[in-house]
Amino acid sequence: MANILKANQVAIFLVLLLFGSFNRLYSKQDPVKLNPFRVAVIIGSQWEDPASFVVNMPKPTGEYSGYDAKPEVMGDCDFHHLIILLKSWGIPFDIVRLDQQLLDRYMFLDMNNKPRYGSIIWDVNQTDKLLPQDYSIVSEMVREYGIGLIALSDRISQPEIQSILGIVYSGNWESNATLNVKTNHFLTEGLNSPFLIDSGITAHMQRQQVDVMDGTVKLINQGSHAQVTLKEYPEGGHVVWIGNDHNYLFSFQDMRTLLRRSITWTIGYNLYKTWENDLIMIMDDPGGVSNSWLEHWHYPVLSEEIIEKYLIAPLLKHNAVLNINFVPGFVNNEKHRLEPTWNQSYIDGFGTKQDYISSKRGYDKGVKLGVFTVMSHGLTHMQPDLVSDPGWYGTSFDRERSEVGWYREFGDTRRKKEIPAAEQVWRMKTSKEWLTSQFGVAPLEFCAGGLGTSISYFNNTSKLAADAGYGWCGWETGYLGKDMVITGWKFFGTSESPLMVPVLPDAHDFGISREPNEFAKIFDRYPKGRFMSMNEFIGYLHSRNTGGWITEKHGLYLTLEYDPKYCQYFEGHSSDWNLEISDWLITNLGEISSIIVDGKSFKGSISKIEIPQGTGIHQIEINFHPISK
Ligand SMILES: [Zn+2]
Repeated sequence: MANILKANQVAIFLVLLLFGSFNRLYSKQDPVKLNPFRVAVIIGSQWEDPASFVVNMPKPTGEYSGYDAKPEVMGDCDFHHLIILLKSWGIPFDIVRLDQQLLDRYMFLDMNNKPRYGSIIWDVNQTDKLLPQDYSIVSEMVREYGIGLIALSDRISQPEIQSILGIVYSGNWESNATLNVKTNHFLTEGLNSPFLIDSGITAHMQRQQVDVMDGTVKLINQGSHAQVTLKEYPEGGHVVWIGNDHNYLFSFQDMRTLLRRSITWTIGYNLYKTWENDLIMIMDDPGGVSNSWLEHWHYPVLSEEIIEKYLIAPLLKHNAVLNINFVPGFVNNEKHRLEPTWNQSYIDGFGTKQDYISSKRGYDKGVKLGVFTVMSHGLTHMQPDLVSDPGWYGTSFDRERSEVGWYREFGDTRRKKEIPAAEQVWRMKTSKEWLTSQFGVAPLEFCAGGLGTSISYFNNTSKLAADAGYGWCGWETGYLGKDMVITGWKFFGTSESPLMVPVLPDAHDFGISREPNEFAKIFDRYPKGRFMSMNEFIGYLHSRNTGGWITEKHGLYLTLEYDPKYCQYFEGHSSDWNLEISDWLITNLGEISSIIVDGKSFKGSISKIEIPQGTGIHQIEINFHPISK
């Protein structure tokens, strides 16, 4: 097959040459080969979901590390962390799992034998669960098609992978020595040396040991051992090996930056999002009714005046957004039934006035002004079944009424069992429908009340919320999409993810009802912070970006596709992305001569390419000065 393809390529080459339309990119003499903006992530058996949909934090292994009397070894989390990073940066990727799939050349090539990917991230663990594989396909992709390769940690047991990386792997032993920059390079620009580790991480880490072959560059060292190496192939393939402990390497901010830049260096270019100083402030519970029934959670709903004076005014002053988990359904105790929230005004059993009508007027004002983002806190924040034994309706305040298990909706915390999938999905969809009708905007975030959830695979609340069309789960659970669900999200408050912050003083309207002055203090706590909408974050996570070199136009074209539902925030707001071009691409093509966004010349910094408002497709065209050779 390979010989036939090569013969075909030569024939095409000659025909193009004869007709004078020969393109420099496909020339053997031309060093520039630019592959598409997409990454292939190749893993072994790390994805616990056989249906390839939910990415969870892996379970503990049940093994002893030797440091503790308990079996405390965590499951391998390299895959989990890697997928969070790629999603958070908005870098497009596909996953190939070698416990279910056979490596095939056409995983990496289209049917015209053109690369489908700019880079491969190799994260294949050593296990007997893998199917038989022809690893020489990866070498072929690097050497003959110029696809980049980034291999991680000890996931390089395959001799073919070591050979293409230009290293020989001997094993790993514990070391917490610092990681230091050994050679200055495009990949190490601006990195700290030694590398900085995230606060709170203490671990006994494994250091990898490799012999580095001639022609391979040592970039980062840990003690005397290389932990990051790179190599370039004449046909254009760029390869990087990133060592260190597969469970901890992404605990270093500098290693995360290095991974992202490795993607730029292996593809030649990159378009990504980072989140420095971004915060998502959240308040739970408005619209819920537990404050009327639950003794330890008893308070009056916020009035229109309190909302205007203590929430809306400071938000407008600081150009900030408050993201609110609303409850659109109300359990009417007297009528024993569910009703829509917001048209009730009554004196509750504790003698407190509950004026949901006034409250709604206040929330409406904030939504219209753009300082509140409407999110879903389920339908009622209460058990679906309030009738079966031991029953909730009509019970006294100091008996069943005071049991907090009744005030959870997606896990039966009163009867200690799960809520069936269909009942959960109906509640999620009805919540969305009612909130859309109540506020005129569709919620994209779903947060289960009191974090009461069901966790078995078919009743999994996060998975069901993705089915119900939400784009993010909970405060911090993670990404929900039609492509996958990622729970146990990480890296909050770093370049890789906004920090989720609770509204002061207690994350709920409960606290505001007692100490409304506390709310505005958050702005003193984060003076540099940008308090953004959850829907903006969801919009970036769900953008579908692609890109590639267009021969006829001699330019690099990147396309951003904003889905009208998940990326609804961009309908009325501009967005911005970081464009990064590799050093070798500038050497080969010349400096950027112009950037055109949606047909208009863009003059700003390439680290912040502004995309005009509007969902649908946007295009960035990047032209280069001709090379003077
Ligand atoms: Zn709640």
